[in-house]
Amino acid sequence: KVYLHWLEGIRDWCISRQLWWGHRIPIWYCNECGEVHASATRPERCSKCPSRSLHQDSDVLDTWFSSWLWPFSTLGWPEETEDLRYFYPTSLLISAHDIIFFWIARMVMAGFEFTGKVPFSHVHIHGIVRDEIGRRMSKSLGNSPDPIDIINEYGTDALRFTMTLLTPTGQDILFSSKKLDTGKHFANKLWNASRLAIANLEGFDPSKIALKSLTLSLEDRWILSRLSKLTKETRRNLATYRFNVAARGLYEFAWGELCDWYMELVKIRFYGDKKAPEYVSAQYVTHKVLDSLLKLLHPFMPFITEEIWQKLPGSRESIVRAKWPRSSKALVDEQAEEQMAVLQHAVSAIRNIRSEMNVAPSRKASVLIKTDGRSLEILKQNEESLKFLCRVDHDEISPSVEKPELAASSVCDGMEIYMPLEGLIDVEVEKRRLNKELEKAKDDLQMTLKKLTNRDFVTKAKPEVVERERQKLKTLEEVTDKLDRNLAALGASGSK
Ligand SMILES: [Zn+2]
Repeated sequence: KVYLHWLEGIRDWCISRQLWWGHRIPIWYCNECGEVHASATRPERCSKCPSRSLHQDSDVLDTWFSSWLWPFSTLGWPEETEDLRYFYPTSLLISAHDIIFFWIARMVMAGFEFTGKVPFSHVHIHGIVRDEIGRRMSKSLGNSPDPIDIINEYGTDALRFTMTLLTPTGQDILFSSKKLDTGKHFANKLWNASRLAIANLEGFDPSKIALKSLTLSLEDRWILSRLSKLTKETRRNLATYRFNVAARGLYEFAWGELCDWYMELVKIRFYGDKKAPEYVSAQYVTHKVLDSLLKLLHPFMPFITEEIWQKLPGSRESIVRAKWPRSSKALVDEQAEEQMAVLQHAVSAIRNIRSEMNVAPSRKASVLIKTDGRSLEILKQNEESLKFLCRVDHDEISPSVEKPELAASSVCDGMEIYMPLEGLIDVEVEKRRLNKELEKAKDDLQMTLKKLTNRDFVTKAKPEVVERERQKLKTLEEVTDKLDRNLAALGASGSK
């Protein structure tokens, strides 16, 4: 729209510049009579008088006069080169929005004028990097860090990935180097997960194993299903130039699904019998998922993905020449995703109890889960995974579980989960800790309540400040409820 508006309101513009570099204006003046000649080549003589003494204008053309030739002059134009035939017109031009008129519109004009063709069919407009408070980066403001310093501190891939992740289509990005921690931590995470995987892929040859011959576990079917969806979404997002959405999807899959869940669960088989058929399934799926993820991530993090990929069995040449992954409908498994969600909810609830009750990570706990139907079946089938992920050495899963004395509890997804605390924690110490937290929370609650019942505050303070206090009140109410509940689980009489 902006583009068309500009073309409709088009005006003459001053084309000369007093610079020492550029295309010189092709105007020659007669040194005798002053006649002006416009000519592509230097005229032999003046057309008005007999003089052969002429001089060329010393001004050069506006820089866009050379820039607008860029799409075809770089390919050898005006010669009819092979490059020109093959590469022109091109498909995509990438540019920032500030030079739509200056450059893009002029390239289109020049393309039509000199070659009869539009120079590109798509234009992707990206944002501009600004500083934290939205100012343009400039040398005089001193707010533009040297990319080399950033790369030395955070890494090239971290910079590239974070910038892509944080830049919404068409909008500007407010840059601060602190944000690069995201990419740096992500690169570390990827590196560590890959190290665990590669250590367990020794002797594995992907070309000798067929997926059909394997018995897959729940987590295998789940991660392959998620990978297939991720591949499809990444391809679609890249095809529509939604680079930040593609980066977000890859980040969430790699961290939140592969590292947090699959790589944890697969340890059971990696640390188990290496001759068991389940070990080969674990190797196959780990290899497959990592191989595809690295390829999908390669455009965003070229160096680390190449480095890791080279170490995978069966990799050769360079990842940049490897086949771009395709999604497979056959691997999409909605049932596995639903089942995995049940396991994840149970695991999260148990981990939550552990952290609220301050159970030392090294302590093995017992767990009782009252459930029936589908959840019962899924948890029974994946009992070993549940115990491994929650550091539980004894469990009971059945519809007839009764709430034990002195146990922490949680309800989710039709499951009642109990963790007996006797012998697991020092109940008296825990009671004191929770009581102290409860007192503090209650004090805060009183203060906030006082503020919110004060007419002056509610009417005079900024609405967002009042809203923040209301949010705080809500959080504090939840916290005191939770502490009350946890204290009750310890056999203490609650505060209510
Ligand atoms: Zn003359």
